[in-house]
Amino acid sequence: MTTSIAFLGLGHMGGPMAANLVTAGYTVTAFDLMPAAVNSAREAGIAVAETAADAVASADIVITMLPAGRHVIAAYTGTVEEPGLLAVARPGTLFIDSSTIAVDDARSAHDLAVAAGHHHMDAPVSGGVVGAVAGTLAFMVGGSDEDFTTALPVLEVMGKRIVHCGGSGLGQAAKVCNNMILGVSMIAVSEAFVLGEKLGLSHQALFDVASNASGQCWALTTNCPVPGPVETSPANRDFTPGFAGALMAKDLGLAEEALASTGVQAQMGSLASAIYQRFAEGEGATTDFSGIINDIRDRSSAAGTA
Ligand code: NAD
Repeated sequence: MTTSIAFLGLGHMGGPMAANLVTAGYTVTAFDLMPAAVNSAREAGIAVAETAADAVASADIVITMLPAGRHVIAAYTGTVEEPGLLAVARPGTLFIDSSTIAVDDARSAHDLAVAAGHHHMDAPVSGGVVGAVAGTLAFMVGGSDEDFTTALPVLEVMGKRIVHCGGSGLGQAAKVCNNMILGVSMIAVSEAFVLGEKLGLSHQALFDVASNASGQCWALTTNCPVPGPVETSPANRDFTPGFAGALMAKDLGLAEEALASTGVQAQMGSLASAIYQRFAEGEGATTDFSGIINDIRDRSSAAGTA
């Protein structure tokens, strides 16, 4: 008997992830609140139920790919008029939440699911829409060994790197820590290029030195914020994402929540969060997050240092 999967949230990420499960031969019943997402899912050959409850009723595994923590908790718990997913699922169903949400929300979702007689894992992803379509996402998983073993074959259809990070919430913890490094390092690399420009240093010369020295990092060698040195970086195509500024701002906001709840004094992480929140208030929301270099350049000119 094939594993039956309910997939909720058929947006940019969830749509292609669900389609890959169908292609791999899983029985998938999906649901989304937005007619546009439902239509594209149907066009991609995914069976879409009329209600979330219908999608979940006979599932062995329920995967959610929703915008934020409040959507996940609301979908799990339901409303006075409508029962939540936890109430309608068969006892012992495995819930996998792949949305990017706060560590505390992931742990609350886990506790709610377990209290309702289910299994639960957080399994956020990186790799963006390109990775979702290609089935090459990286999954960071928090949950028990037993649930990880059950989920692994399903996650392997949608991703190529699956890391079991530990117990509940630790998948989200890994994601938030990684993206805090990424936000800080992209700002640092961008500041260095703008300083180099002011000092008369060519982009290529700085790249050739730093990419082979201690300044080496992903923000420099894969997602380089200036056009030229790395052909595939978004800087060569007018900062078309890639990884949009709005998503970086969101993830750094989650990092700030984690910093607040743990009392960790991460000055660079907090500053990176403030910088990206401001960036995402304007055009930065829809440009690649490496476009932060333009913000730094504009501010440097405005400060009269040109
Ligand atoms: P999206 O907004 O495109 O899709 C979310 C979908 O969830 C929407 O279609 C919405 O209608 C649906 N939805 C909301 N509440 C629902 C409910 N109760 N039941 C069913 N459907 C519901 O977002 P996305 O870009 O697909 O991102 C989803 C998650 O993945 C987010 O948490 C995001 O941070 C994370 N993520 C996104 C990317 C990316 O590049 N887009 C990369 C990594 C992680």
